[in-house]
Amino acid sequence: MNVAAILKLKGRAVATARSDVTLLEIARRLAAKKIGAIVVIDEAGGVAGIVSERDIIRAVGHGGGGALTTTVAEVMTRNVITCRESTTLDELMATMTAGRFRHVPVLENDQLAGIVSIGDVVKHHVAEVEMEASAMRSYLTAG
Ligand code: AMP
Repeated sequence: MNVAAILKLKGRAVATARSDVTLLEIARRLAAKKIGAIVVIDEAGGVAGIVSERDIIRAVGHGGGGALTTTVAEVMTRNVITCRESTTLDELMATMTAGRFRHVPVLENDQLAGIVSIGDVVKHHVAEVEMEASAMRSYLTAG
């Protein structure tokens, strides 16, 4: 199982925003779309950063409710770890675990081609494990 297979099932839509948007607006978009992170893009459409619900909580935790008027540029993570469509599920799990983040944008030819969340990873991992267990049961009962 790789990222291409995950995207085939979930689609390639990626929520994006520019870096001058306020955290309040980001919170509204995250809530409306029921997602946990938004990819920040520059004028050319390239990836400039990523902002997740955790960045908003951190900003509010440190600065109070007033922090919601600050811009994404002030809190986003600029060094975004991305993956390719050929990245495997195991590689993705290792990347998320090592980096302690739950979202990985997919880049193909420097263009955003989708995003994978920890929810997608867990869902497909569980399906894979169940398939293996079922194949093992069939093998054992056939013997
Ligand atoms: P998350 O677990 O995705 O809510 O993100 C936790 C922290 O990691 C936040 O500060 C995010 O800005 C950051 N983050 C999320 N995804 C990535 C990524 N793919 N590469 C680098 N940092 C990330």
